[in-house]
Amino acid sequence: MWTAPRTLEERSDAGDRPLGQARGLNGQVGASYGMLERMTARVALIAGLTTVLLAAALSDEEARAAISGKRAKAFAAEIAAFGPRVAGSRAERLAGDVVADAFGELGYRVRKQAVSLPEGGRSRNIIARSQGPLRVIVVAHLDGVGAGPAANDNGSGVAVMLELARALRGERGLLLAAVGAEERVESGSPIHLGSARLARALEPSVKKRVRLAVSLDMVGVGGRLAVRGIEDSANASATQLLNAIRSTGRKAMYEPDSGVSDHAELTRAGVPAAWLQYRFDQACWHRACDTANRLKTWKLRTAGRVTLRAVRSALSD
Ligand SMILES: [Zn+2]
Repeated sequence: MWTAPRTLEERSDAGDRPLGQARGLNGQVGASYGMLERMTARVALIAGLTTVLLAAALSDEEARAAISGKRAKAFAAEIAAFGPRVAGSRAERLAGDVVADAFGELGYRVRKQAVSLPEGGRSRNIIARSQGPLRVIVVAHLDGVGAGPAANDNGSGVAVMLELARALRGERGLLLAAVGAEERVESGSPIHLGSARLARALEPSVKKRVRLAVSLDMVGVGGRLAVRGIEDSANASATQLLNAIRSTGRKAMYEPDSGVSDHAELTRAGVPAAWLQYRFDQACWHRACDTANRLKTWKLRTAGRVTLRAVRSALSD
């Protein structure tokens, strides 16, 4: 469900800024010839100004169009509506098909990778790949706990990853994946099975060339944007994310974690990865109230923008 934007930042997300509005020339009927001349001059002036304003507005709009928090929220709501996406469930499968379709429409090569579950059944990784040698990996887990619709954990991350897929279409060297079976409380596994499966499929020589690896997990609710990793200090991926965040004028902290998201499996497999998270959704984490209406569009957009910055920088190095 989509609620009406409230804050200024949310309104700007809807693209409804009052730019390029030239004042009308009403009430000029019966004007003299001299007045008409002056009016013509005014019209020309206003037309010129409007062109300048529109050009500025367009480049601004183009920048805004890259990542849409509103579209991300709508996507998270769409997959939340399938119900709890427990690994191996019908809801997880349906959501995976939606992600695969979205990747395909954006021009990526799409692969579905089976992930065996300890107690039988299968989850899946939905993987999008662009042309060229692998440089950047972005993952977000698609599965959730059984208690609720898992909108923030982690419909939010998948939605932002799709925004990145859209903004980066045509770029070479990308692997974007909605991974399965992250929730260990559901899979019963000590590791995050989907990302571990993904990492296993990468050749050592390929892994070595990856410049940036990011897990987007819980990016729509919470107080502060944090960059996390299993190391005591920021690894290469975390450093790039921190730099990207700071380059937008925001504060960012590196906060080590014990390895509770997919970045842990990538890092352990030899691809130093970072986790981007808003900390913390105290009220509704792993609960029935983890619903899409709680997601903040500006947080989704911020998570997408800073990751996009980091990715573009990694690709241009
Ligand atoms: Zn999660």
